[in-house]
Amino acid sequence: MLVFKFGGASVKDVEGVINLKSIVQLYENQTILVVVSAMGKMTNALEEVVKLFYKKEEYAQKLKEIEDYHQTLINGLFEDKTEITASLKKHIQRIQDYLESVDGQRYDEIYDQVISNGELISTLIISTYLNQEGVSNRWLDTRKYLKTDATFREAKVNWEATQSSIDLLEQNVNLFITQGFIGGASDNKTTTLGREGSDYTASIFAHCLKAESVTIWKDVPGVLSADPRLFSEYQKFDQLSYTEAVEMTYYGATVIHPKTIKPLQNSNIPLYVKPFLHPEEAGTVINSGEFLQKNISAIIVKKNQLLISISTKDFSFISELNISHIYEIFAKLNLKCNVSQNSALSFTVCLDYDDMKFEELIKLLETSFKVRYNENVTLYTIRHYDSNVLQKILEGKIVILEQLSRSTAQIVVK
Ligand code: ASP
Repeated sequence: MLVFKFGGASVKDVEGVINLKSIVQLYENQTILVVVSAMGKMTNALEEVVKLFYKKEEYAQKLKEIEDYHQTLINGLFEDKTEITASLKKHIQRIQDYLESVDGQRYDEIYDQVISNGELISTLIISTYLNQEGVSNRWLDTRKYLKTDATFREAKVNWEATQSSIDLLEQNVNLFITQGFIGGASDNKTTTLGREGSDYTASIFAHCLKAESVTIWKDVPGVLSADPRLFSEYQKFDQLSYTEAVEMTYYGATVIHPKTIKPLQNSNIPLYVKPFLHPEEAGTVINSGEFLQKNISAIIVKKNQLLISISTKDFSFISELNISHIYEIFAKLNLKCNVSQNSALSFTVCLDYDDMKFEELIKLLETSFKVRYNENVTLYTIRHYDSNVLQKILEGKIVILEQLSRSTAQIVVK
């Protein structure tokens, strides 16, 4: 069994979907489970719908744009569009009915029920299209297999339930098409695994199916040392160890979702990152081998960061007790600290800015502490750095926090 994952960028238009078909056809004699994300930027668009709903603003127009985008793809892919168009309409109607029936209190839960439609619609279109083209496949509702708890937007996998459901998967099917990113909680509610979570879905299925390998098909030649949209100089890694890949993704390398590696490492399944436009290329393999390309510095950029400086109200030292209270607040809001530093009187942290949580975070912190913050700062993490790379990156920037370990430099700049 092979597991493939196609992200939103790879199925953003008619050509992308046709390309997916030709890649799958290259592996005709194998059994494949294909995990697909929402098409193009549809998750962002659905996120907009939820935000508008939450702010009690008009969301119908945004929903119409989502419908139109999928309809354009359908028009380009199908000879007979009647049934698939009706299915699309049903999904859009379902979102509308759902939003009309909820009171807007439970943001994370509402978010998951709406956002998951991106993957459901995308896989429905792709599975139906492949069947039309004679590439026979079975559409799977991943929510029946990938079982999670009810931590909406960041659901935790229930491995035992997931394994026993996946064990029941039909044996005589050669091609499965299923959704990334989403899961099912025990009360039939839909959950999501965190943004960009489809890679993680692929690795969960691979682990439970004892797959031969996972391939993530991307719009880049493999794992690169820097984001080509931000840097003109970069190199491709031919191989990464599981450990190096975990470190890179932990610091924010977006090429693979951070949770993807563990299930694969646990069952020693190699992960390939390959270019979807050049499937014959080797890409990058991530496996149990030793990481040798340490001469290449990997640069990871996290924009839109919030740097918060927290100190006590009475000018006393920041104690372990204070820090644990601060972390309790982060945990409560499900916020991840990207870098932290403490001095005698203050504790400074860098977090991903989340406009839906910002006010509550500051309010909670201010009940016990004095809080100062900088919005819209950038965090650079450089693995295997040297002075040249640091100098190049920091030229013309104002450094507001710097932390260097033997292998990793983390720098927050304005
Ligand atoms: N569609 C989801 C997102 O954009 C999941 C994914 O693409 O992996 O975050």
